[in-house]
This record gives sequence, structure tokens and C-alpha cells, in this order.
Amino acid sequence: MSASQLDLLERARKHLIRYCRTWQPPVIVSGRGSTVIDVDGREYLDFTSGQMCATIGHNHPRVVKALATSAQRILHLNSALLAPETIELAERLASLLPPPLSMSIFLNTGSESNEIALKLAKLCTGRFETVGLTKSFHGLTVGAGSSTYAIARRGHGPALPGFALPAPYCYRCPVRSTFPGCDFLCLRAGFELVDAESVGSLAACIVEPIISAGGLIDPPHGYLAALRAECRKREMIYILDEAQTAFGRLGTMFAFEQDGGAPDILTLSKTFGGGVPIAATVTRPEIEARAVENGFFHITSHVSDPLPSLVGLAVLGLIEEEKLADAARTQGEYFIGRLRALAQRFEIIGDVRGRGLLIGVEFVRDRRSKEPAEIEGAKITRECLNRGLLVSIVQFPGSLSVWRIAPPLTTTRAEIDRALEIIENSIRAVVGGQAHS
Ligand code: PMP
Repeated sequence: MSASQLDLLERARKHLIRYCRTWQPPVIVSGRGSTVIDVDGREYLDFTSGQMCATIGHNHPRVVKALATSAQRILHLNSALLAPETIELAERLASLLPPPLSMSIFLNTGSESNEIALKLAKLCTGRFETVGLTKSFHGLTVGAGSSTYAIARRGHGPALPGFALPAPYCYRCPVRSTFPGCDFLCLRAGFELVDAESVGSLAACIVEPIISAGGLIDPPHGYLAALRAECRKREMIYILDEAQTAFGRLGTMFAFEQDGGAPDILTLSKTFGGGVPIAATVTRPEIEARAVENGFFHITSHVSDPLPSLVGLAVLGLIEEEKLADAARTQGEYFIGRLRALAQRFEIIGDVRGRGLLIGVEFVRDRRSKEPAEIEGAKITRECLNRGLLVSIVQFPGSLSVWRIAPPLTTTRAEIDRALEIIENSIRAVVGGQAHS
């Protein structure tokens, strides 16, 4: 790493609050498509899509054009005013979603979209308890953070009233059972505890289609449908947080098309803006009406702003025109197939899972004990970085060590092949040529 990168990081340490554990190189100056470039001119394949947001690649020309158009028209408005692009975006979402999911509010971050979802659910039901899944991540503002069970709970003070169900983590089943014979025992036992502990005020259940930040945990098929049925029994609002999965990443426009069906409230964020902050909470007219009658009120400085609306329209247009959901499905099948073939050769890969282009690779010391390979996982990630590939590693000490691989949906086969070559060389550099027993 050059002296100028080190100097930049030193300056960061002096003046930026450390919102995550450490600042790490590289320091990036530009990006295009699946590639980002650091201050020294080194290129990296970004198989993290930034923070999972650059689904259509970095600085897509359509996004750049929307930004320029908005800059010429109007960027921002008083919260009580609207621009045509915001109205058009709401119509566009309604046309993509199954009725009656037709009412939207446009915000900036995933946390905000979940705050609103929870607020709507509370105002609509008149109740206040929420249910989430262990290892889930819905944001870190206080409301959304109260349903985030993966991280940032300890020391963060009282959370809003809520309960966690065990995540349906089949590779390390929390109730030591096996799918499909288990008949979703984790879900049923979890709700038995919720019912015992609840004070009778269950408002909503909020879940991710694939628990991503918590270890790329892909629920077995039918789990979300069963969860939704449990919500129905209790007249709870079923909130689906599609921050990472909406708009094609799993091979369909929305993840709920694959399991569980349409939710009562859908939240959209990261993948909506091609790198520009836009988020939405979408619901049925009946839920909106009841919440408003009961006093729903929510204004933020950038609610309904024209700039993100125009970008959102550009992103949706591109995803549809270029059939990026189909691309994610075919590229994902290929990528997962090649990773599974690698797992035949390297004992350290305990599991390869995921759908479309949201892929998890779990590292274990040995496949029988499934002891998480934390040091090795971190080393392999570092080797990939040194060879020009960015992937995220999720690690909970003593619990799991998992890669989350999520390249832009526009990534080419040649780029995937290059990433696979880097992955193989990086694993080999850390564990040698070790074949699995
Ligand atoms: N929901 C999910 C599923 C997420 O992965 C995240 C971010 N990792 C959020 C919500 C929060 O989004 P934001 O960081 O934009 O507030």
C-alpha cells in the first residue's frame, strides 16, 4: 500500500468517528460497473456491490444521467410539496407489485423504511410488541435496531418491546433438527415462547427473505409461508424487509415471489438506488388508512425528494429492460455451481448457499465439528483483497465465519471467472492444496 493511502487512513482515524471496527484499505477514488479503483490506481472487483446497493454496478450511466437531470430541474422540496417523478415512482412500484400493495412513502435508508413499517403496524393494530429473527439486521436506528438481533444490542440501552425467534439456520440448526422432517420446529417452538412472554400486544413480525448481514442464512423453502401463517393466526402485520433482495438479486423481481407471498408491508432500500440513497415502505390502502386515522405522522427532511425519485425510476427501468433478475438467476446458478465444485476440493468450505447473486460461503475448521474457521476466513478474505477481489466476511466469534458474495447483477461471466480464480488461489495460499477427507 502506498504512503498516500496510509496517510489518508491516518487522517481518517483523527477525524472520523469509528462507526465500525477499523478503517481498512483500499481508499477508493472511482468506480464503474463491478470495478472500483484505489488512490494508487489499483483495480478491484467489487463483489460486495458497495454496501449491497450498487446492484446495477457503480456509477451506472443511467444513474449519472438521472442525477444530472435532477440537478438541472430540482433536487429537493419542502416535505409537503411533490414533484411528478415521486408520484410516477409510486405508480411504478404499484404496477410492479401485486395488488393491493399500492401505497408508498419514499425515504433514504433501510433503517428509516423499517421504522416506518413498524410505526404503521403499531398505529394500524394499536399494539406495540414486535417479533424478529435472531441474526437478523433491519437497521440501527432505535425502532429498527430493536428488531435487529445480529449486532449492536449490548450497551445500547433499552430496546423497544419485542422477541426473537431462532433463525432458521439449517447448517447449524438451533433446535438440532433436520429439514424437512423438522416441520419448522424452530418456528413453532419460537412462537410458543413469544406467546408465553407477550403481554398480549403483538403488532408485527419483521423478517429478511435471506438473513444477510447475520451470516447469509437462507431459510428452507416454505419457512416464510409458515411464518406468515403464524402472523395471521395472531393478527400480526407481516413485514418483509427486502433491502438486499428486491429488484432482482435473488433471480426474481422480489424475493416474496419465491416464498411466503406478498407481505402486509414491504420495505425496500439498498438495491433501489444504484448507490444513491432511496428507500420505500409500501403497504395496502387499508393499512395506510387505518394508520392515518390513528394519527400516523412522519416527516423527514428528504421524504419524497425529487432527486432520489428520478434515480429510482432510472434503476427500475434498467433492471426491467436489461432483464437483470434473469441475469442474476443464471449467473448465480453458475457461480454457486463453481463454488460447490471448489467445496469438493477444499475442506475449509463447509457450506455454499444462497440464491441468485446473494451467495454465502461458510468456512469451517473441519466439516464434522463445524468449528468456525475465523482466522483462516479472515486471511482468505485478505488474500482476495491483495489479489484484487472485495468480498465481505461476516464473523461472530465462536459462532460462524461466512462470506457474503453479492456482485452487481450486471457482472459478466468473465468477471465471475476472474473472481473464482482469485478465490481458489487465495484459499490455496492460506490452507495449501488440502483436499477434503
Ligand atoms: N435491512 C436490511 C436487510 C439490511 O441489510 C440493512 C443494512 N445492512 C438495513 C435494513 C439497514 O439499512 P440502512 O443501513 O440503509 O439503514
